[in-house]
Amino acid sequence: MKHSMVLVALLAVAAPAHAQLGGILNKAQKIQDAKGKFDDLNVTEEEERTIGEQVSAKIRQRFGVVQDPAIHKYVTLVGTLLAQQSERPNLAWTFIVLDTEGVNAFASPGGIVHITRGALGLITSEAELAGVLAHEVGHVAHKHAVNAIRKGKAVQLGSNETLSSRGPFLDKIANKAYDIVLENKFDRNDEMDSDKVSLALAEKAGYAPGKLADFLTRLDERNKDQPASNGLFASHPDTQARIEAIRKQAGSRNGAVVEARYKANVKYKPTPVTAIATVEDGASGLTGSTKAGDKKADAKKDEEPKKKGFGLGGLKQAVAPEKESAQVSASGGSRGVGPDRAAKGGSNPAPVKVTVSSADVAEFKRGIA
Ligand SMILES: [Zn+2]
Repeated sequence: MKHSMVLVALLAVAAPAHAQLGGILNKAQKIQDAKGKFDDLNVTEEEERTIGEQVSAKIRQRFGVVQDPAIHKYVTLVGTLLAQQSERPNLAWTFIVLDTEGVNAFASPGGIVHITRGALGLITSEAELAGVLAHEVGHVAHKHAVNAIRKGKAVQLGSNETLSSRGPFLDKIANKAYDIVLENKFDRNDEMDSDKVSLALAEKAGYAPGKLADFLTRLDERNKDQPASNGLFASHPDTQARIEAIRKQAGSRNGAVVEARYKANVKYKPTPVTAIATVEDGASGLTGSTKAGDKKADAKKDEEPKKKGFGLGGLKQAVAPEKESAQVSASGGSRGVGPDRAAKGGSNPAPVKVTVSSADVAEFKRGIA
């Protein structure tokens, strides 16, 4: 599948994951035989994908997936066109639309890019969508999440751990990567780097480069009264500096904006940031189907203060690790995360399978004018 032009948005299925792990362990055994010891963060491409699938499974569980093949096909066509221009065209690139009105996008290691229907509602053209997706493709292409873990030395094998630790070790990396991706903890240089990739890929595909700046400007304006950092690019107070850098790089280079096709394919409307239904942080991490946080539940919570957690009394302890990590990254506000990050998600985490052939992509590209 990796080298096929047919992309299938299907992942994190238990059986293939285990089969893949077997392959990883064989490869790991060879590495260990050769070197006697692991180069602990020298993850293979296969391992990177396994980590990415674990991260994606958690993201899908948290926000749900829009069960609509048409919107997945459209986003997959735009994303595939961009990914094919990237430095890693042969990854099994997968594009997923998350079922939440919060505005966000997440790049999972190994080539799994997620964007929310809230983001699609705020975006106004295909060139802007391309800008956002290409930025996420940049994070994947340059392995920012895995490199951030390596730099931070947040996950290490103990000196006495050997081959048998590789599986749990990868789980540790996946948990850390989820944290980085979900909280958007990429550092400023990585963000600037992904912005550069975004400009280059969008232009190669025929889009007006720099439309990402238009989207960021709209997002910044929307979030101006938010007390806490919020959602996409949340960790970067200097969004204005990024916008300026993108505009400067884009200069007078031009390309297609493709507004009509975007509007024909994407019918979502933006939700005002103050109207986004949210869930208590961590509450839906393991229970994407609980529907916690809708307005009725909020009203009920007010009436019965003891039923915090929406009647899921035992849940809090079960999700303690995620809650802790969210608190660690809190940067202001009582709950520490803005409404986009805390947004309620849909109940169905199942991937939506779409097939996109190279002929489909070529035909789609002809519409960029
Ligand atoms: Zn980013």
